[in-house]
Amino acid sequence: MRVGIIGGGAAGMMCAATIVEEHPDMEVFLIEKNSSLGKKVIISGGGRCNVTTGIEDLKLVLTKYPRGSKFLQSAMHRFSPAQVRDWFENHGVDLKCEEDLRVFPVSNDGHDIVGVFENIFKNSKIDLLFKHNMKNIVKKKNKFVISFAEGENLEVDKVVMALGGQAYRQTGSTGDGYDILEKLGHKITDLSPSLNSFLTQEKWPKELSGLSFEKATIKVKGMKKYQFTGPFLFTHTGVSGPAVFALSSLIAFEKYDRQNPLEILIDVFPDLSLDNLFEQLQKLREENLKKTFKNTLHNFLPKSLSEKVYENLDINIEKKNVEMSKKDLRQVAEYIKALPLKIIGRGAGDEFVTAGGVELSEVDPKTMESKVCPGLYFAGEILDIDGFTGGFNLQASWATGRAGGLAIDC
Ligand SMILES: Cc1cc2nc3c(=O)[nH]c(=O)nc-3n(C[C@H](O)[C@H](O)[C@H](O)COP(=O)(O)OP(=O)(O)OC[C@H]3O[C@@H](n4cnc5c(N)ncnc54)[C@H](O)[C@@H]3O)c2cc1C
Repeated sequence: MRVGIIGGGAAGMMCAATIVEEHPDMEVFLIEKNSSLGKKVIISGGGRCNVTTGIEDLKLVLTKYPRGSKFLQSAMHRFSPAQVRDWFENHGVDLKCEEDLRVFPVSNDGHDIVGVFENIFKNSKIDLLFKHNMKNIVKKKNKFVISFAEGENLEVDKVVMALGGQAYRQTGSTGDGYDILEKLGHKITDLSPSLNSFLTQEKWPKELSGLSFEKATIKVKGMKKYQFTGPFLFTHTGVSGPAVFALSSLIAFEKYDRQNPLEILIDVFPDLSLDNLFEQLQKLREENLKKTFKNTLHNFLPKSLSEKVYENLDINIEKKNVEMSKKDLRQVAEYIKALPLKIIGRGAGDEFVTAGGVELSEVDPKTMESKVCPGLYFAGEILDIDGFTGGFNLQASWATGRAGGLAIDC
């Protein structure tokens, strides 16, 4: 049997490795438009490659996928984060789990992850077809004919679509598969960038660019279901960091732009109630009655942010603590617990993943085989699956790639 796996990213590599390890005699073609494997894997996690998560409770892991968690259940049970870690370690890459439960190679080098697959393929009969840009797939009876921009055709019995989404297009994932899949009878759900930073209407975040908080809660005003707590950062165009990425994932399909901004509220003291914060400010005031409020606030908040507090609240910076009323302090506490910003867009082209993809009800979650076009399989981000940052997207690619690879058995 001949199998064509299109896409030499995380999902395609795992699918191919599974097949060649389980069935060394199967004829496998791994088709990749780039001249090497795993370009995105190598740059992932800032080049360190956050391979998977250290969270062991699968139920909890599945809550990290705004889309696709139910579909993923079966594949994740058979190739859980713990099993993914064992798999890489058994293939010679030592991994470490950091305090925030992200798992990386000990070397902090994504090349080592791709190196595992290169070694497996070097010692197998697989055909690696680099610089092969798939342009079309036609089903003829029980066979698939794959054609390439370079002009040749390849006939196979089974095809695995592992072309990724359309984020970070410079890595090769340019959303090529969607049209072809529609022609083969599949529905592609709405697509949207996810895991991105936000651009804000206000320009002042620029002055705080680089200022970060280990923990902040960000919520969309008036939409209770959209909130997330985690690391947060001001940038020269708005806000970013894991909490912002997670929120961007939750609101991936909400519409917002310059004319219709979405208001977000940032709480940089999520572990303190408003009353506690207010009491602390009062205590500071009483202990420093003769000092200016400005200096007091500088001891409480990073200077650049406290400057924005009295600017945005229009407090005279020379005002002494003794002149600050309870009402003034309450207003400051309320402001710090809900810094308002209007988001007007996403950082252009800087999203990490594509939300949306192949409609999951048309795919068998155990085998990854199409229910509408037998012999066609899927793996990775091309599916309507996406997760938060923290190793969840690669984990989904490993798990679906392995499920497809195990299902293609004769
Ligand atoms: C900057 C960045 C950092 C990230 N960091 C992390 C992280 O640390 N942890 C994590 O879990 N996730 C991370 N992600 C997300 C994660 O990398 C992806 O979700 C994952 O790589 C998707 O794997 P995939 O195999 O489905 O697709 P891809 O890795 O995108 O692979 C698809 C492959 O298909 C090839 N291809 C596409 N079209 C064609 C065609 N027509 N013909 C032939 N080949 C084709 C592409 O060249 C590509 O190599 C990150 C993403 C980005 C952009």
